[in-house]
Parts: sequence; structure tokens; C-alpha cells
Amino acid sequence: MLPDMGQAPPVIHWFRRDLRILDNTALLHASRSYPSVVPTYILSDWKANHRWTGPNRQAFLCDSLKALAGNLGTIDGRLIIRTGDPIEELGRLVEETGAAAIYYNRDPDPHGKLVEEKLARKCSEWGIECHGWNDVTLHTPDEVLTKSGDPYRVYTPYSNNWLSLDKPTPLPKPGKLDTPKNLRSDPLPRLSHWNLDTAAGGIVEAGEKAALGRLKTAVSARLADYGGMRDCPSASGTSRLSQDLRYGLVSIRTVYRRVHEARKASRSPSTRESMHTYIKELAWREFYMAILHHFPNVLKEEFNPDWRGLPWETPGENFEAWKEGRTGFPIVDAGMRELCETGFMHNRVRMIVAMFLTKDLHIDWREGESYFMQQLVDGEIASNNGGWQWSAGTGADAAPYFRIQNPWSQSKRHDPDGEYIKRWIPELKDVEAKLLHEAPEGNEPLAKDYPLPCLDHGEERKRTLAIFKKHKEQL
Ligand code: FAD
Repeated sequence: MLPDMGQAPPVIHWFRRDLRILDNTALLHASRSYPSVVPTYILSDWKANHRWTGPNRQAFLCDSLKALAGNLGTIDGRLIIRTGDPIEELGRLVEETGAAAIYYNRDPDPHGKLVEEKLARKCSEWGIECHGWNDVTLHTPDEVLTKSGDPYRVYTPYSNNWLSLDKPTPLPKPGKLDTPKNLRSDPLPRLSHWNLDTAAGGIVEAGEKAALGRLKTAVSARLADYGGMRDCPSASGTSRLSQDLRYGLVSIRTVYRRVHEARKASRSPSTRESMHTYIKELAWREFYMAILHHFPNVLKEEFNPDWRGLPWETPGENFEAWKEGRTGFPIVDAGMRELCETGFMHNRVRMIVAMFLTKDLHIDWREGESYFMQQLVDGEIASNNGGWQWSAGTGADAAPYFRIQNPWSQSKRHDPDGEYIKRWIPELKDVEAKLLHEAPEGNEPLAKDYPLPCLDHGEERKRTLAIFKKHKEQL
């Protein structure tokens, strides 16, 4: 039996990575164009788990969906959850509800785009409208091109162009959604839905309200000194909004606007400079999304063709030690343990551990990329691929291969008192700070239960230089 739809047909809003009601482009347009909206989320079946699906991100998704369901209730909406292939499930829902259209915000990832193309074809078969909106970025990849209309391959000219463009303004909250009654919904998911076990204990709170709280804290307390503190892993010096942007718990327009306004209102040149630096980080996010859009092959191979076919080593015991935070390099181990315990790692430390894997352990960046995707709550295909290819020296505007960070001096520069290291490696809590930033003398471990360094950085650096140089000569 068809549910009671009233007079006019409803419209489906398909939630994807926009799990919020405030400043949501497609949801607002859906609610303004039709008297009743069916807010829908389609869960993938566990048999469709990707090799990058991991418990931390899925746990955050579960909690964000729960919060979304609650938020929708405040505007007379009811979240309808279905499980399976998105096109088939949306088709079923169209049939059940007599919906006249499907609204959604576009996904920047290659797979998401394929699904959208298929959905557009199906909607015309079903005789209904299909509306996709740009919502994930301030500017689409095709809005930021060189004068000759080509994609940028280097960040600085990209960001100069990006910064010069007018930014879209945040949108209001939709009015009442009046979701039709009696529609069937699957229950809110738990981790077991994807056949996954426990997630990390230290994951940040999920949901739109928590994300808006983080934005408020960032703008009022963190970003004034972002320039000075963002490379200090022991401090709360960054916004911690990456998972919120990943799941669309807060919109990029709202983030940009709040920071832009705070910057305009500030009389302090250093605060204004810091907030500008922050905005440029938002441009990095869109730069990597543009790279993935124009060069989707980066998910398989090196962006820079010169570095395709490098001889990487087969991951063995040292790869396991890297994952578990027991390489004997305190700054590397602290980062990997932070990741294990919270599903997050500070950006500076991500760079250190990524360079360590590729340049000291000589392990393929794709192995690190995969492991990060399995663990990170903010796992974002474009930024993760960009970060890994940057560190490996193979990506767009990457670190040149001969600029190999030394984990000891990085540690000394960015965590001089060892506060970050000691937070994540309790075995080292009584070790004098200066000893944390140098290879231990002789064969004496730093602490009873802490391993000796698994390699000599100087030696491995020389090997890397030789490997890259030889590869270049063979081109
Ligand atoms: P802030 O410093 O407060 O920055 C604000 C926002 O800008 C971030 O939330 C993020 O959306 C964006 N941003 C900042 N730095 C970068 C960057 N280098 N590249 C792209 N966007 C950036 N970021 C992800 O969101 N998802 C990932 O999967 C991811 N993987 C990474 C892998 C490696 C190897 C490296 C080196 C970096 C990776 N980053 C990734 C980028 C960066 O580490 C995180 O965005 C940042 O640590 C998130 O913390 P924050 O929100 O406090 O950042």
C-alpha cells in the first residue's frame, strides 16, 4: 500500500557526504521546490566493503547518521535508511513514494561520479528529475584553470587563482520537510553492519552540532596563532575539522565565511596572516580534489611519470613495526600510535611517517595510502593520495626526491620537549627530552620496553638517493 503522500508528490534528498541540515545546497533546494522531502541514506552492504573500509570511519559515520536523524526530526523530517546498491534502492523508493525528483550533492570521487552518471540515466528512464549540486568545495575543479584552460599541476598558481575568486555564501536552514509517514526504514547502522569489530577509543565526537562546536573553538581560540602552532603536534593548534569536512557535518562555505569574517574583524596583523594561512590550507584540499578530478590515474600510478616503476621493497616485519608504532624512532611511533588510538594524526607527523615509510623503509607509498585510508576518520581519497604522493616525491608539486626529511631533526624541531612523543609512548615518559631526538648511543634502548631504531637513517637516505638517481638515469 502506498503511504499517504497528500496532494503533491514528494522529492528524495539523497544524503551522501553532506550529513547536516544547515547550509546544505541540495537539501535546501529540495525543500524549496517540493512540499515534502524524503531524506534518504543508502548504506552499502558489508559484502561491498572496499579494501579501504575501516572501523574508525564507519563508527564516525554511524554516530553522524544518528545525529542527522535527530536533527532532521527538528524540521519534521525523518531519515529513511535503505541498504544495498544506491541506484536500485533509490529506484525502489521512487516507486514506493511516487517521488518526482532526486536531489543530491555531488561526490568529488571517481566512483561517486560514475554512480551519479548512472543515476541521471535512470531518472530519465523513470521519468523524474535529477538534480546534482556542487557542495563539497568552494570552487569546482573546472572553475580553477590556467589561462589556456588547462588544469594546474602546481599548488601556488592554483591557490592564487582560487583565492582571487568570489566565494559562495552560506545558505539558510531548510524549512519543514514533512516527510511522508509510514515509509519503511532500516535501523541506524552499527559497526557490525559492515562486519567490522571495534573502533579506536579516542575518535572525536560525531554529528553536526559537535562539528559546529569545533569550528567555533577553532575560530575563537585556535586560528589566531595557526601560523605559529600548526606544526606543533603536542598543541591544539589546528582546527580538527578534517573529518567534519569529509562527512559534510559542516559546510565548506560556512567554514570559509566564519574564518574570513574573523580575519576581517581582527586588528592584529599576525592573526590576519594566520587566518590567511588557514584559508590556504582549504585551498590545498581543493587542489588535491582538482588533481584527482583531472588525473584520476593518480589512484593507480605516480602523478609524475618520471617516477613510475620505481623498485619498492616488499613490505615485511618493518612495515608491521611501522603500523604498530615500534620502529624505535619515537616521533614516527608516536604518530602511528596516535593514529591507532584516535583515527587521527597531526599533519606534520603524517608527513614524517609517510616519508619514513617511503624513504627509509623503501616501501611503496600505495601501502601507506591504503593503511591510512583504513585507519583515518578523515580518510579523504584526494587529500590522502596527494599527501602520500607528496611525501614519496612522486606527486603534483611534490617534495623533490632529494629533499628527505630526517626524522630525528624533525622531531627535535617540532616536538622539542618530547611532549607529543611522551603522550603517545608512555614507555618513554621518563626519558630526557634531548635523547628522544637522536639515535641512542651503543646498543642501549631508550627504555626497557621500547625497541632500538630499526634502521640507520643516514644509510637509508643514501640508498634512496641512489635508487631515485638510477631510475632517473634509465629514463
Ligand atoms: P587544519 O590544519 O586545521 O586544516 C584545515 C583543513 O584544511 C583540514 O581540515 C583539511 O580539510 C584541509 N587541509 C589541511 N592540510 C591539508 C593538506 N595538506 N592537504 C589537503 N587538505 C588539507 N587530510 C584529509 O582531510 N584526509 C586525509 O585522508 C589526509 N591524508 C593525508 C595523508 C598524508 C600522508 C598527509 C601528509 C596529509 C594528509 N591529509 C589528509 C592532510 C592533513 O594532514 C589533514 O587535513 C589535517 O591534518 C587535518 O587536521 P585539521 O583539520 O586540524 O587541519
